[in-house]
Order: sequence, then C-alpha cells, then structure tokens
Amino acid sequence: MPNYENAALYFNEKRNRHERRWHETVDGVRKRRTTPNAKWLWEMVNGPVPDGHVVHHVDFDGSNDDPANLALLTDSGHRRIHWEKNNGYRVVDGKEAKICTECGCLLPFSAFSTERHTKKGVTRAYPRAKCRACSSRIAQENQQARREEME
Ligand SMILES: [Zn+2]
Ligand SMILES: [Zn+2]
Repeated sequence: MPNYENAALYFNEKRNRHERRWHETVDGVRKRRTTPNAKWLWEMVNGPVPDGHVVHHVDFDGSNDDPANLALLTDSGHRRIHWEKNNGYRVVDGKEAKICTECGCLLPFSAFSTERHTKKGVTRAYPRAKCRACSSRIAQENQQARREEME
C-alpha cells in the first residue's frame, strides 16, 4: 500500500466521486498519484485491497463514501451487481425482484418465467425481461392480430 497519509481530499465532478491526491518519488522522479477516496478509506482500516477485488458503493452512489456504504467485492461479483442494477434487478425485503420492461412494475422473481444462462461456467436462472402477465397479454394480442389478418 502506498504511503498515502498526506493525501489531499477533493471532489472529481466528472466521475461524481471523491478522490485523494498525493505525490510519490519513484527512482528520484516525483509522480502525482490519485486514488478513489472510497478505496483510500477502506484501505486505511483494512489494509491493501486484494488483487481482483474492488471497493463498491452499496447504494450505487459513487459520492457516498460513508464507511457503512463501502463493501469489498470480487471484480466479477462487482460487474454482476452493476449489470443487475442496470437491468432492473432490485432486492426488496431481502428478496430478489425485477422491473418488468413492459409494464414498468417492480415484481418478485416468481412473476417472471426464467431462462437458464451460462456465464463464465456458472449457470443461473435469469428472469425474462417481461413479466408473465405482460408476456401472455402480448401473445394474445399477436394472436388476435393474426386472426384479423386472416379474415
Ligand atoms: Zn460498484
Ligand atoms: Zn409486466
């Protein structure tokens, strides 16, 4: 872990996060270093972030560096959690839920039919984009439209 004790705190507006900036002399060359404040805070308490890991903001607000909002995740776990958030996945009362892309409702996984996908050797059941109710309504509408075409 670098010696960041005198690192100055500032806010990076572009990235919407606090960062730390300090100088380090490597082989007689003075270099400017920066690190996300979240990582800096985590490392001050726990030591260096292990390889293949990242400090994540639990509430997905990159500017909220409250220690209770910081969690160490593996890179792949971190990518998954952001992918799920971007695809409408939520946790409600400790249960997995998802936003239907058709009606926009936040519904429990049981309201969706699932498809099994294998990603990097891990097979998981993923809910479909649209809930069962929307899927069957769309199927009925399509059937109706086909029937009308035939008449
Ligand atoms: Zn994150
Ligand atoms: Zn729906």
